[in-house]
Formats: sequence, structure tokens, C-alpha cells
Amino acid sequence: MLSVADALARVAARFAALPAEQVALPQALGRVLAEDLAATRDQPPAPVSAMDGYAVRSADLTGGSARLRVIGRVPAGGSFAGRVEAGTAVRIFTGAPVPDGADAVAIQENATVEGADVVLEGAVASGRNVRAQGLDVRAGETVLQAGRRLTARDLGLAASLNRVWLRVRRRPRVAILGTGDELVPPGVQPGPNAIIASNNVTLAAMVTAWGAQPIDLGIAPDRADGLRSALGNAAGADLLLTSGGASVGELDLMREVMDAPDDADGLAFWKIAMRPGKPLIFGHVGGVPLLGLPGNPVSSAVCACLFARAAIEVMLGRPHHPVLSSARLGRAMAANDTREDYVRARIERAADGETTATPFERQDSSMFRTFALADALIVRPPHAPAAQQGDRVQVMLLSPDGLAV
Ligand code: AMP
Ligand code: MG
Repeated sequence: MLSVADALARVAARFAALPAEQVALPQALGRVLAEDLAATRDQPPAPVSAMDGYAVRSADLTGGSARLRVIGRVPAGGSFAGRVEAGTAVRIFTGAPVPDGADAVAIQENATVEGADVVLEGAVASGRNVRAQGLDVRAGETVLQAGRRLTARDLGLAASLNRVWLRVRRRPRVAILGTGDELVPPGVQPGPNAIIASNNVTLAAMVTAWGAQPIDLGIAPDRADGLRSALGNAAGADLLLTSGGASVGELDLMREVMDAPDDADGLAFWKIAMRPGKPLIFGHVGGVPLLGLPGNPVSSAVCACLFARAAIEVMLGRPHHPVLSSARLGRAMAANDTREDYVRARIERAADGETTATPFERQDSSMFRTFALADALIVRPPHAPAAQQGDRVQVMLLSPDGLAV
């Protein structure tokens, strides 16, 4: 059996970053940046006031209070042509450039206007209430790096850098095909022994969350001709995900309809040392890379979280390794066997900030409800010894903090 890490590496090696495309800033949310974003100007562009008040020379206020002549006024976006000389001040507002000669701003709460003068109470240190030029961003600095999945905050930052277009990775097109004569799509009247097909819906939503564009190809029958024509609809996709058809007789069917291997790795039926999961097909159909996931809904979804996500991340120019975090076990677990175990668990945050992961009592891979309700998958390596409540374990967070699925 192949380890999960080896299988992930083999899948990742079969994909490359897709080309970039240009999108308008509002369309870039959730997309992956394909360029390093550098500032072309300082932000703020000049030393500016952080408060409403009076631009002063701090040396004038060392006595604790001073009467200064108000020689002008500068709003945000404006400028003051003159210079603040000893004994003078300029009325200033938040965000306005600090006039030459001034080195601090006295806040208006400490000011009393008396005719053409202002009386200021209290000393101000040099630099007080002044934001230095380039405090936030300096011209030439890279502020966002290629490969970053763009958040609402990133878009605001890009806008502040005067960008209206961004180069992002093209979204991978992921075709999704279910297989199985027993399956009917959701919404139709099922026969007594029919199974309602859920994998297409799960997988489409997952790949969308990871930044790809799903194409639902429906359900193919367990017949070579029907399977072949359904697979043909994946032409033009960057990745084809199938689910099911991985039981012994069906494997021959898959073998029949897939491209002949172009090299030793071209078509692979891997037995992966993981639970849930195990069988995974990798190959090509009509030149489109195919990942054949197990049919069991929990298995196909967990395999997608590892292998389909990795393929998508590579196509988006991002690191593909699953992000694991640490948690304390909410209850004891038995020793693990030879397969890496992905255990559905609830996450709780204790008052001390500690994260606790408590596995669901039953982990049967036919139980999709617990997968939907799980907050995380505890990742137990092969041969992990028995663990006690409170022991540290590695977890792969699901929504909302982790895989967003
Ligand atoms: P298979 O790998 O085709 O033998 O499928 C394994 C199990 O998963 C069988 O019980 C199938 O009925 C079930 N299954 C396969 N595809 C789906 C699907 N799209 N939705 C729900 N169950 C499925
Ligand atoms: Mg089947």
C-alpha cells in the first residue's frame, strides 16, 4: 500500500500552475494572486496629521502651554504653502499633510481660540500625532505575494495601492462524474433500492470552495459505452473527478475506458494506506487527468480533501500540503493499524483557549451525517499508539477555519 504522503506527492507532480488572467478588483475575491503586488507610492504619501488640531513646533510648547498665531488651515487632501515659524500654528485636520516647519500636532481638545490666536494646553513631543510618510507602505515594497488567496481585506489593500485590475490564476475547470447503475440524482422519485447520488453535489461544492470551477457531468452507468461517452464530456477540463466504479469488476471497466498509460505512472490503481478511502485511480481520459475517487460518500469526500484539493492548489500555484493544527484529544482512542486514519471529530474551544478534538463514537464510512457535522478530521498516522484524553493530536480543520468545506 502507498502512503498518503507518497500518493499526494505523485498527484501533485502531475499538475502545474495554470496561466494567469486579468480580473477587475471586485471579481478577485477568493481568487489566487498570480503576481507580486508592489506599491508604487508611499502610503501615506507625505507626513500627515493623525488628529484634528494644530500643527505646531514642539519647541514652542515645552513650557506646558503657549499662545500661538494661527497662520493658516489645511484640510485632508489640501496643502499649506507657507511654513510654521516659531510662535505660529496651522489649523489641521486628520489626514492632512503636516506643513513645513511643524513637527507635531496639538489636539483640538486642548485648544482655545482667542481671536487670531490659539492657546494650547500641555506639551507635545516632537512627532506626536504625526504619521510618517510611508508608515503603512513604502513605494517599491511588495505587500502581497503571488499565490495568496485574496480576502476582502486584500482587495482593500490593493485598492489603496491604486490597483483596479489584478492578475490571478485561471480557475481550474473540474469535471465531476458519478458512476453507478444504482444511483439516481437528488430530486427524482427513487425506486425502492435506488441510492440518491450525493457525491457530485459534495464534490462540486468542495472544489468551488477551493477556487475551482465545477462542471457537473451527471451520472454514468456501469457500462463501458455509457461510461465512455460520459467521460468524453470532460474534454477541455483541467481535472476530471469520478466517484465510484472502484470495486473489482468495475476496475476492469475503468481500465477499458481510460487512455493507455504513456509511462509507468500514466495509469495507476493505487491502494492507499488510509481510512476512509483506500482505492484511488489516477490516469487520463482523452488527455484529461482523471482522479478516480471511491464511491462511498465519506471516502470520496475525504480523498477529495487530500488529492483533489492538492491538484487544485498546484494548478493555482499554491503549496499543496494539507494544513494540520494541533488539538487535545477529548477522549481516549485505541491504537491505530497500518492505515492513516481520518477520524471525524468535533472541535471545542475551552475557556483557556485550548482546542479539544473529540471523535464521534462511530466512524463507519457509510455515515455521512457525522462527516457533515464534523468540525475536523483527526489525522492518526499508521501505527499510532493508543492515546489518552488530553494527548496532543494533529487535526485537519474543516469549515469554517480550515478547508472551508
Ligand atoms: P463503488 O465504489 O461504485 O462500489 O461505490 C461504493 C458505495 O458508494 C456503494 O454503496 C455506492 O452505492 C455508493 N455510491 C457510489 N457513488 C455514490 C454517489 N454519487 N452518491 C452516493 N453514494 C454513492
Ligand atoms: Mg459503483
